[in-house]
Amino acid sequence: MMEKIKMLTPLVEMDGDEMTRILWKMIKDELLLPFVDLKTEYYDLGLPERERTKDKVTFDSAYATKKYGVAVKCATITPNRQRVEEYNLSEMWKSPNGTIRAILDGTVFRAPILLDFIHPAVRNWKKPITIARHAYGDIYKATEYRVPDEGKAELVFTDKDGRETFRETVYNFECAGVLQGSYNKDSSIRSFAHACFKYALSTKQDLWFSTKDTISKQYDQTFKLIFQEIYDNEYKADFEKVGITYFYTLIDDAVARVIRSEGGFIWACKNYDGDVMSDMVSTAFGSLAMMTSVLVSPDGNYEYEAAHGTVTRHYYKYLKGEETSTNPMATIYAWSGALRKRGELDHLSDLVAFADALEGACIDTLSSGVMTKDLVSLTDGSIKTRAVTSAEFIAEIRKNLEARLDA
Ligand code: NAP
Ligand code: MG
Repeated sequence: MMEKIKMLTPLVEMDGDEMTRILWKMIKDELLLPFVDLKTEYYDLGLPERERTKDKVTFDSAYATKKYGVAVKCATITPNRQRVEEYNLSEMWKSPNGTIRAILDGTVFRAPILLDFIHPAVRNWKKPITIARHAYGDIYKATEYRVPDEGKAELVFTDKDGRETFRETVYNFECAGVLQGSYNKDSSIRSFAHACFKYALSTKQDLWFSTKDTISKQYDQTFKLIFQEIYDNEYKADFEKVGITYFYTLIDDAVARVIRSEGGFIWACKNYDGDVMSDMVSTAFGSLAMMTSVLVSPDGNYEYEAAHGTVTRHYYKYLKGEETSTNPMATIYAWSGALRKRGELDHLSDLVAFADALEGACIDTLSSGVMTKDLVSLTDGSIKTRAVTSAEFIAEIRKNLEARLDA
């Protein structure tokens, strides 16, 4: 047996809930611990521990990510009323992802794992399209109401000294209607821009950004100008060095170009566009179970995870003693992504090579036709498939990983 691969700095490990928590342990036991002298600082974000610590553990894990720079997170339950009963919670704790994103001030990048024998709905897409969504403000923090009847709607701004500095008529209503006031902040747009430029450099992919600036001459125009200014002053030289481009275009034009493209770039979107387009793009690529996700902060911290949730329906089967065929791919890629980033930051080429080998072993396994149930119906019929349980799938990946590491 070869010597285990060494690490320098620990990864922040955020454990989670339900079926993904079961997969988490299987992945560590079978695919990581036998090969890597794994150093992690462990935070249990499983709901019982969040309850016990009054959610302090979630905050601590986010601060640890700021300290060490790289985290890997298992899917977690966001409590709703039913979960409060199920887990006998003292409070409806907030979404851990929301808490972590707020502390890191981060942007979420989602990208699909592609396979030769599963074709995207858009024929010419050959490479992943990564969507970056600005998850702050706009209609998600808007004030709105129904206008009951005739009357004047105005947009008023009062400065910090109480002086009214703007008053604009929105509309003179001649009948009932609707009204909405939305906002965003330069500081948040700047953070979004930095996270996008940093992630483009880190993954050596072109960055596209699109808004409706031709119509929204102040609001969307501000996004466009801030991106351009930050690009010109802080990233242009590095982009040129790496050989990637920053490209701004109108959202309508972006949609047309994305559909005609072969993929292989990052598409940064405002909040609403990102919400809608990420669902469209992930559906077109095939499966939620194959969607990876990374939260990137403007100062360059990275938190890797799967885009899917805790796969509750499978967990209830598991609790009844049934073997499930839950797809661990996105969770494995969260680990490989985090290990690769840790290796890059600490200049550990063995660790980077291990991350590559682990992903390679996953692709080898799927290419041999061995896969979880969810993928079987998506394949194009060019390979003979065999649906296996999660445990069998991971065991097969381990065999292929050993073969790669021996070679
Ligand atoms: P989900 O866990 O993503 O599962 C939805 C359905 O998608 C599953 O029932 C399953 O379909 C399929 N699926 C998702 N991931 C799969 C995988 N790896 N392998 C095979 N099938 C997979 O979403 P949800 O049921 O809406 O949410 C469950 C819990 O997760 C909730 O408590 C929610 O708060 C939490 N959640 C957490 C995160 C996060 O931590 N980032 C994100 C989203 C949701 P079939 O049942 O048809 O097989
Ligand atoms: Mg959505």
